[in-house]
Order: sequence, then C-alpha cells, then structure tokens
Amino acid sequence: AQNIARSYEMNRGLWQKASTVQAVSDVTLSVDRNETLGIVGESGSGKSTTGRVLLGLEPPTAGTVSFDGRRLPFIGSAEWKTQRTRMQMIYQDPLGALDRRLTVSVQMREPLDIHRIGTPAEREARVSELLRAVGLSAEVGRRYPHELSGGQRQRVVLARALSTRPDLLVCDEPVSALDVSIQAQVVNLLSDLQAELGLAMVFISHDLRVVRQISHRIAVMYLGRIVEEGDADDLFARPVHPYTRALVSAAPIPGRKINGRIMLRGEPPNPAKRPSGCAFHPRCTDAIARCSVEMPSLVDLGGGRKAACHLAGAASQAMPPIARAAE
Ligand code: SF4
Ligand code: MG
Repeated sequence: AQNIARSYEMNRGLWQKASTVQAVSDVTLSVDRNETLGIVGESGSGKSTTGRVLLGLEPPTAGTVSFDGRRLPFIGSAEWKTQRTRMQMIYQDPLGALDRRLTVSVQMREPLDIHRIGTPAEREARVSELLRAVGLSAEVGRRYPHELSGGQRQRVVLARALSTRPDLLVCDEPVSALDVSIQAQVVNLLSDLQAELGLAMVFISHDLRVVRQISHRIAVMYLGRIVEEGDADDLFARPVHPYTRALVSAAPIPGRKINGRIMLRGEPPNPAKRPSGCAFHPRCTDAIARCSVEMPSLVDLGGGRKAACHLAGAASQAMPPIARAAE
C-alpha cells in the first residue's frame, strides 16, 4: 500500500455541516510472503481501517493498494471477487463471523462451494483436513457455533479463511475476545500456519505483547499515521518514538502478573480532534516548541527502522534501551 488515506464524512446532526474525519493518512506499508507485519495502536489509530483498505474492502480516498504487483481491483468487480479468495480477513468476534443456523462443516464448505473448488467429495475431505490443521477433530464439523468455546470458534473461522488457500491473511484483533489462556494457543497456531503455508500476514492489535509474539516487523500507528516501524525484536528493545516507548514500557513483562493496560497521560486519541503539528504532542513528555506546529515526517533511520519524531535522529542514539532497563 502506498500513501493510502481513508476519510469518512461524519454527520453531526441535522443543522450542522458534515465534517470529514481522516481515519488514515499517508500510510505506506508492505508485507511479503512468509512474513508477518504487526500493526499496533490504540483504538482510533486507524489500524482496522488500514486492514480493510489493504484487502480492498474499502477503497482508499487517496493512494494506491497493490496485491502481487497489481493494483487492487475495486470492491464488487468480477476481478475483485477472484482476487478476494487469495486474501482473507479474520475479525475479533468469531461468533459474529459465523452463521448460528448452520453447522461448522456446512459453513466451512461454503467458500469452496461458492468458488467451485474441487468436487463435493474433495470439499468434504478438505473440510476435515482444515479442521485437523487448526487442531480440531472432525466431530466439531457436525456442531453449531454456539456449541463451541470461543477458542474453538476462532479456530473454525481461521480454518474457513484458509479453505481458499489465501496468500494474504489480515487478522484484526483476532484474540482480543478470547481468554488470556486461550490467546497464546491461537497466536501460536496462527504463527505456525503462517510459517507452514508461507502466508503474508497482517496482525492488527492494540496489545503490543501479542503483536510482538507473532510479528517479524511492527508498525506503530497513532491517529491514522505510522509513527514508527521496524524489526519486531529491535523495535521492542530500542523504541525510538516517545509513543512506542510508552507502549513498550507499559507492556507487561512476561511471567509477571500485570494487566496489559496502556498507561499514557492525557486524552486518548480522537480522530475528530486531531492536534496540530505532531498529533502526539499533547501527550508527549519530550515535546519541544516545534512539535505543536510542525508535523514530523516518517524518516528512514537505517536498519529497517523508520520513525516520525522531530527528535528521532538524536533519540535513536541518546536513549537507553528500554526493555533492558525494565529487567
Ligand atoms: Fe514528541 Fe515532538 Fe517527537 Fe511528537 S515530534 S513524538 S511531540 S518529541
Ligand atoms: Mg479496530
């Protein structure tokens, strides 16, 4: 995706003028086969919108999205429908993604039926094979969604998403609705399947811990823009942007029982009230005068790292590695 933007018209009641809310601005991202890109940010950071634009579920209001070297066709077009089987999305709520009236195997067969993949017998075999791949027994196929646990349901959704052999899988908060004990299982499963199938995967979450566990690269979003991007381990060990630093320092250390809440001062980001200059400046402990006036651009710092902060060049050298300091 190159310089994509997505804005929405927001109508504020009958007598007021509709205002335009910029959900995503100037986001450039790429994800390769065999790679997981994590997108992390608070709610309202534009990460879900980015995911939907990447899949062509929403057209960008500016910029371009390409898939496999070709410009993504428009949603609804015949070409888009073919392409669509190669790109799948997984959402937070597995129950909402499933049809309560149909058994698991019937709805898992659906994408295969629609796209006429294989003979009926082959489809049947594929369903059992997929259930096995996500660690479920064939017996689960005869059950209805409400008879399954949350973790089992998300496995079913995942199995169904894989049925068309996609090249790209976008997961939007796929484990946020699950018990913490189940979360790790599903994340491990996603990670295994990604490696096994050579998928390009985009993993969206507000939870930096989970994102770190699964991602090769991480992009941090704040109010519709990427503020930092880099190799996952490297970014975690040496965050450059003050926002990433805050996220990293608030992420609980494995083995210690702390609630994974992001502690940041000031108002949570609101896309309808975007601060001037660097959008993070009202909450930034390092802000200088320039920050409220001038928006920092995303600068390449070398080694695959990019950051959008006026202090980025200096910060990357002067700041101590936060992960080590916390140990
Ligand atoms: Fe903070 Fe300024 Fe950097 Fe924004 S540009 S993150 S306000 S120091
Ligand atoms: Mg979201």
